[in-house]
Amino acid sequence: MADRRGIRNLPHMTSSAFDSVRCPSWDVLVVGGGVIGSAVAYFLAAAEAQGARGEAGGGGRALRIAVVERDPTYASSSTALSVGGIRQQFSTRENILLSRFTAEFIRRAPELLSVDGEEPELGFVEAGYLFLATESGLPVLRRNHSLQRELGADVAILSPEEVQARFPWMEVGDLAAASLGLRGEGWLDPYSLLQALKGKARALGVAYLSDEVVGMRTRNHRVEAVTLASGDTLPVGLVVNAAGPRAPEVARMAGIRDLPVRPRKRIVYRIHCREALPGCPLVVDPSGVYFRPEGQDFLCGASPPPHRDRDTLDLEMEYEHFHEVVWPVLADRVPAFEAVKLGHSWAGHYAINTVDQNAILGPHPELPNFCLANGFSGHGLQHAPGVGMAIAELILYGEYRTLDLARFSFERFANGELIREENVV
Ligand SMILES: Cc1cc2nc3c(=O)[nH]c(=O)nc-3n(C[C@H](O)[C@H](O)[C@H](O)COP(=O)(O)OP(=O)(O)OC[C@H]3O[C@@H](n4cnc5c(N)ncnc54)[C@H](O)[C@@H]3O)c2cc1C
Repeated sequence: MADRRGIRNLPHMTSSAFDSVRCPSWDVLVVGGGVIGSAVAYFLAAAEAQGARGEAGGGGRALRIAVVERDPTYASSSTALSVGGIRQQFSTRENILLSRFTAEFIRRAPELLSVDGEEPELGFVEAGYLFLATESGLPVLRRNHSLQRELGADVAILSPEEVQARFPWMEVGDLAAASLGLRGEGWLDPYSLLQALKGKARALGVAYLSDEVVGMRTRNHRVEAVTLASGDTLPVGLVVNAAGPRAPEVARMAGIRDLPVRPRKRIVYRIHCREALPGCPLVVDPSGVYFRPEGQDFLCGASPPPHRDRDTLDLEMEYEHFHEVVWPVLADRVPAFEAVKLGHSWAGHYAINTVDQNAILGPHPELPNFCLANGFSGHGLQHAPGVGMAIAELILYGEYRTLDLARFSFERFANGELIREENVV
């Protein structure tokens, strides 16, 4: 990883960094301005601003930071198409800590992300996640629960009777137990989080370039420059790959062919149900089908079985999955769901890490100034704040300081130190 001095060795920029600026070079160029790229940019710029005020190792000129985004409407980005769920209930230590960081970040977002006195409204609904388990799922539920509690997550195991008492609209006959998040869990508006991070990053001097990275020039195990679709070639100190489901494409531009990330389609169905379900959290059925309220409606879905989960960047809707898999489970679990009307539904992409379904973070070993922030496997929205902060620390200080995410390095694949996440929804 390029260290702070290395990043600062580039020639000085001649104009200030705002969107349409033509800049001779960038110290940090982030490919992809979704929630991950924007979080990295925000935390870098915020740390720089703090440093400039002399609070955190300032000195030297400010870093020139650019984010290149191929689609500023975000129409097909995973962030805008996400369900916005935030939960502490993971099986991997780092994921639990990242979610705890997010819960605190959301709490402080009005203060941290306000621009010109205007506070962002993230629409956080703190209604919890409810993971249901049958007898066979009980050992995993209990194991995860112990780890979550050890790390300070406010989660409770409920008996079927307790589930029934809290949520009388639910069938619990087949259940052995459930795990409910009591604080710091629920869902928010993903687009608002993205815009809040982006708006603050821009206010702190980050340039957002509306363009597409189409190539990279590398020499002596370093990326020297990126080429844009507009024809510009930009010399760079360090590149962050935050291209979401297109991360492997961007990695290939830098000559990296072994990034185990693939785009996989996930469909979100919106349903209307005549009856209200008071206190409904985000419920994850033992089958993998999930649902949560969205205004007067509900959002629901399920990952397809592995043999039907092909690599694709298409966004075409598929309704058979709803009729054959999702709806039958919903109707068994919640009798009120026997009569539902399908509403506006949509497809998006998970960037699946095909090896262990966890993030891949930090420099690629063959290319130390090419930093990965990829493979979030369906839980990247809620981990964006912690990941952004951690990648910013790596870039600025050459080490993780707040959250140790070293186990998410690319090297884990070669070293056989996989960290499989069991709670992928
Ligand atoms: C249906 C669905 C439901 C989900 N639900 C949840 C959830 O409940 N909770 C949760 O935490 N996560 C959820 N996720 C996952 C979450 O949305 C993602 O992990 C997260 O948004 C990833 O953010 P990102 O910035 O990496 O990717 P993206 O949001 O896809 O951003 C990447 C950006 O890179 C840009 N880009 C790509 N290539 C280039 C290039 N060459 N040049 C310039 N720009 C480029 C793209 O246009 C895109 O805007 C869900 C995802 C989907 C699809």
